[in-house]
Amino acid sequence: MSRLIVISNRVNPPADTGVGTAGGLAMALSAALRDGDGVWFGWSGQTVDTFTGQLSMQKIGGVTVALMDLEEQDLQEYYNGFANKTLWPLLHYRTDIAQFERSFEGGYERVNRRFADTVAPLIGADDVIWVQDYHLIPLARELRRRGVTNRIGFFLHVPWPARRVFETLPRHAELVQAMFDYDLLGFQTEDCMEAFADYVTGSAHGSVNGAGEARAWNKRTRLGAFPIGIDAADFARAVKSSTARDAWSRIRESMAGRKMILGVDRLDYSKGLEERFLAYEQFLHDHPDQQEKVFLLQVATHSRDAVEAYQDIRERLESVSGRINGAYATMDWVPLRYVNRSYRRDELAGIYRAAHIGLVTPLRDGMNLVAKEFVAAQDPDDPGVLILSEFAGAAAQMSQALIINPFSREEVADAIRQALAMPRKERCERWRAMMDGIERDDVGAWRDSFVRALSGLSAANDGPLRPTLASLQSA
Ligand code: UDP
Repeated sequence: MSRLIVISNRVNPPADTGVGTAGGLAMALSAALRDGDGVWFGWSGQTVDTFTGQLSMQKIGGVTVALMDLEEQDLQEYYNGFANKTLWPLLHYRTDIAQFERSFEGGYERVNRRFADTVAPLIGADDVIWVQDYHLIPLARELRRRGVTNRIGFFLHVPWPARRVFETLPRHAELVQAMFDYDLLGFQTEDCMEAFADYVTGSAHGSVNGAGEARAWNKRTRLGAFPIGIDAADFARAVKSSTARDAWSRIRESMAGRKMILGVDRLDYSKGLEERFLAYEQFLHDHPDQQEKVFLLQVATHSRDAVEAYQDIRERLESVSGRINGAYATMDWVPLRYVNRSYRRDELAGIYRAAHIGLVTPLRDGMNLVAKEFVAAQDPDDPGVLILSEFAGAAAQMSQALIINPFSREEVADAIRQALAMPRKERCERWRAMMDGIERDDVGAWRDSFVRALSGLSAANDGPLRPTLASLQSA
């Protein structure tokens, strides 16, 4: 019997679906594995003095997980280092803050070898392996070196940047060469896939044909765009929960008849939070009649606090939000409510629903699930308006949002004005079109389309995942 083995850096399925975690990946993967017979393997989040490679198998929220501990040095060099100080900024076009240190690279290679050593004995002959995200790019190469011949797919949750941007990474070719040990490389958007194809042809002197088959270094792999979705049905349940209703009532009461503009993000420099605050300030400046009639609630959950660039952005946001409130607040109106705590998913559902505008303005984002959740939480008869950055992967699927350039304060300020004045009929039409896409292209569809492509099935074969894989492997 073939199983799906998902491998990611962190393994943190929520114990119940109502409890949110600040990261789209955990929600998406647990929804994809729940109630199946798959295994989710990765780092426990714990460190030990000496790496042992011991596995702890558990069942969490209906998902079978296999966890291993890492060493403190692994955490510094691989996770805080190469993953979050080198690759994350680079893949989000922030070459100015990407750090290149050989110790980071060494740690990244070592941890990928540790992942391979530990997971290899778990892999059965018929299993299909699906590796997640930029932490584990060289993992297929390490597994191949250990004799693993199973199908292995890779999905990149973050953007793949323009060729010349990626080339700023020392030894970039080595990393891309390792990607050719996967059978399938999945990207969030066609744009990202094309940027990768451009690297293959322009930098690696390889080729990519019309069917997405890439060739370089005498190897081949396949490319595809698989935009990730949310668990739409589960989110619909969260919206109806009593926790969501309580959060909705509480926030509505605090609004005192004002309209709420809402931002929900991890506190990350890629999310364009400073630019967003400045655009909102521009809006208040351009439209004095709107002062005291609206407010911006920005939830910005602390993230990656050990990395300096995150401490910097945190300080900047504290300063800009303080300045805006100092300049505009009155005795009974705070224009910008800036909140650093994290909310449960069901609480968030109620907060989204209470908002008149969802303001999602990342400078770069692989997908942005908040944009989809905001739409999914709206009242169909009186929905809020989504303002969405053209540089979020979600924009490729959500053209009925007000699409803006997050680098232009004036453009964002104009979109806020337009959203506040938008007639209900237009809001309903735009919402319906986006909601149809969210329900159709949900996280289950994402999983099925990726695994089907990895298993080499034609799109015409719509069988469920388990039997399909089993019959394919035994054929
Ligand atoms: N989130 C949450 N509580 C919060 C803030 C965010 O549960 O207080 C969740 C949010 O519901 C979404 C995820 O964090 O599912 C963020 O995913 P997104 O793709 O927008 O960005 P990422 O953090 O993965 O870059």
